[in-house]
Amino acid sequence: MPHIATTNPATGQVLKTYEAMSTEQLDGAIERADLAYQQLRETTVDQRAQWMNAAADLLDAERDEIARIMTTEMGKTYVSAQAEVTKCAAAARFYADKAPAFLADEPADADAVKATRAFIRYQPIGVVLAVMPWNFPLWQVMRFAAPALMAGNTGLLKHASNVPQTALLLEDVFRRAGFPEGAFTTVLVGSEAVERILSDPRVRAATLTGSEPAGRSIAQIAGRELKKTVLELGGSDPFVVMPSADVDRAAEVATTARCQNNGQSCIAAKRFIVHTDVFDAFAEKFAANMAALRVGDPMDPDTDVGPLASERGRDEVHAQVQDAVDNGATVLCGGELPSGDGWFYPPTVVTDLTPQMRMWSEEIFGPVAGLFRVSSYEEAIEVANGTSFGLGSNAWTRDPAEQERFATDLDAGNVFINGMTTSYPELPFGGVKNSGYGRELSALGMREFCNTKTVWVGEGAASAGAGAHAE
Ligand code: NAP
Repeated sequence: MPHIATTNPATGQVLKTYEAMSTEQLDGAIERADLAYQQLRETTVDQRAQWMNAAADLLDAERDEIARIMTTEMGKTYVSAQAEVTKCAAAARFYADKAPAFLADEPADADAVKATRAFIRYQPIGVVLAVMPWNFPLWQVMRFAAPALMAGNTGLLKHASNVPQTALLLEDVFRRAGFPEGAFTTVLVGSEAVERILSDPRVRAATLTGSEPAGRSIAQIAGRELKKTVLELGGSDPFVVMPSADVDRAAEVATTARCQNNGQSCIAAKRFIVHTDVFDAFAEKFAANMAALRVGDPMDPDTDVGPLASERGRDEVHAQVQDAVDNGATVLCGGELPSGDGWFYPPTVVTDLTPQMRMWSEEIFGPVAGLFRVSSYEEAIEVANGTSFGLGSNAWTRDPAEQERFATDLDAGNVFINGMTTSYPELPFGGVKNSGYGRELSALGMREFCNTKTVWVGEGAASAGAGAHAE
């Protein structure tokens, strides 16, 4: 049986457990999602925008209680949970506002295709399964749900097993906002149920945000079933600092970029690749900033870093650090496993890494930074691109020519120059290589789960398609 439960990571206490849905209950949920799709696709985009705006209002009004649940379930600081709820409300309003334009018919060159009229129409495709992680338990879901529902699709959420309350409250928010029963449904199941859901003919596509193994598994099932997937997987984002950078500012942003969300973000900067001319200055400031962060009770507004979400996660982070230390790496700060309740881990900086160490190539999902010294732009790019991931990337330089080169040469789904990788509803989000494929957010994210339909209109039956190739 899957273990679906709320366990407070700050204390290790199990607060609430849930029984997984039976096969019959799951089947009923899929049926309701399919029926809701038949209903939702007939509604106008203006109607859906009204419901989506109402969902945003509910999130704003209930922000503090939702944030408290998120903190209790996965340990992020209460302050950052509040900000996450606000960001979700803003994204809901963004899609309510932009959907009419994103879904509008797009005219094509009719003359070029021998038509009187030709255009592209964006239509929903049906029930979409969303398999989501716990680290941004509201935002990861909202950035799928807002565009999907606005396009007229319905959503089935299989959330991570450690955030059931957040999953259920989202379903409740969409229902109370006015969306038809079944338009957005949380299914309380473990990951072993994903194959059954995705194999069901009523489910048309899937989106996963999670680890590489989960991505491979879902892509295999979807491949067999010929279903579309969007995969947002892991990352080990580089943060490159060049000699012309504002080193103080870079060291400050690096600290946030590594430790936001207690170090558990796919787009956290994880590998700090610093030019030798500024290496010592950066290393000193960065390690001092990291060591100064306050680790503790995530409900306390003065806390910077709360606990990791699970004991298993913390053990894994410490094992990766230990592996580096055992093989000769140097710890500049942190690295000691704390005693006491809760799954806390200190902000840690490790340098003198070599390719034999796990930290060189693996993603590390906690407040631990790998620090690399390089002596040229070319070497920086080689190290930055030298992992199997390609999610986000960051480069610090005030040289305009170098900025242009980084924008082209970094092998990632996004490049942030003199800043840290962040997601915005206005910009596409996604990765390359083993970080996955497809895009979320912006118009592209909405269209991933649309039928991009070509419409060709001729003068009349006699001339329709005349002269065209039959393909
Ligand atoms: P995970 O184990 O892959 O879990 C994510 C979701 O997938 C959960 O709902 C989980 O369900 C489910 N799942 C796990 N194994 C599965 C399988 N074999 N088949 C189907 N579903 C499966 O990921 P995690 O370790 O909790 O989360 C951290 C990972 O997510 C990191 O690698 C991080 O970089 C990545 N992430 C990526 C992004 C992005 O946008 N690219 C954003 C956030 C996180 P259960 O909880 O029931 O196991």
